Amino acid sequence: AEKMEIPRHWRLKKQRYALVGETCPHCDGKIFPPRDVCPHCGGEAKTPYGFSGRGKVFSFTMMQDAPAGYEAQAPYTVALVQLEEGPVITAQLTDLGDQAVEIGMPVEMVTRKIRQDGNDRGILVYGYKFRPLMQ
Ligand code: ZN
Repeated sequence: AEKMEIPRHWRLKKQRYALVGETCPHCDGKIFPPRDVCPHCGGEAKTPYGFSGRGKVFSFTMMQDAPAGYEAQAPYTVALVQLEEGPVITAQLTDLGDQAVEIGMPVEMVTRKIRQDGNDRGILVYGYKFRPLMQ
């Protein structure tokens, strides 16, 4: 179901490498999702890079309506998560319990239900979610 392309020689042996992007050999920029062109300097960037999966909530939105087929999951929270390494990505938050989401809240990636969906506003939810970082 994952659309993200991962070079064959890159082995996903360790979970901490589950969030695979690229690093730019020209400016050392970290890239996610992989796009083979560095958004910072425009250079070719095809070197796989495993992100830590940790970051913080940059902004978030409570979604009251789920895409067709996912109604059971509504409401849910979609956040822009800024990874430790710099890139900001869109992902669903999970395991929130009673915890209120706050800007700057530390989170970590979990990969328990792989799927891909989107909505008419173009928000893509990749095959991973983020949960509050266990201190
Ligand atoms: Zn670059």
